[in-house]
Amino acid sequence: MKDCLFCKIANKELGTEVLMENDFFIAFNDINPKAPVHVLIIPREHYQDITDIDGRIMAELPVFIKALSEKLGVSESGFRIITNKGKDAGQIIFHTHFHLLAGKDLGDLI
Ligand code: 5GP
Ligand code: ZN
Repeated sequence: MKDCLFCKIANKELGTEVLMENDFFIAFNDINPKAPVHVLIIPREHYQDITDIDGRIMAELPVFIKALSEKLGVSESGFRIITNKGKDAGQIIFHTHFHLLAGKDLGDLI
């Protein structure tokens, strides 16, 4: 989608380092990390939020997360996946994305 930051990253227009990619998703470091490991996973195609994403693409997410967590070295220590939808959740980028947080005790908020 025109003027979408994450579409530009997905299309390799901004030179953002890609950590892992497949036919469906791309992963890259969050610019403002909230944990020692803070990676964003985005679908290549533009969907506004988790309620918008195509279910067939969503079904591919666990396989991608498994491979990514192994590559990042956090599959054993553990990680948290978060997605924000809408104002109260604090969504600021309206190209749906999944935060992978790891590398420390993430606490017990949820
Ligand atoms: P949201 O609150 O929408 O779930 O989070 C958006 C995330 O995108 C934030 O954690 C923010 O730090 C990250 N972010 C915003 N702009 C950029 C950018 O240009 N590059 C990268 N790598 N991350 C970004
Ligand atoms: Zn987009």
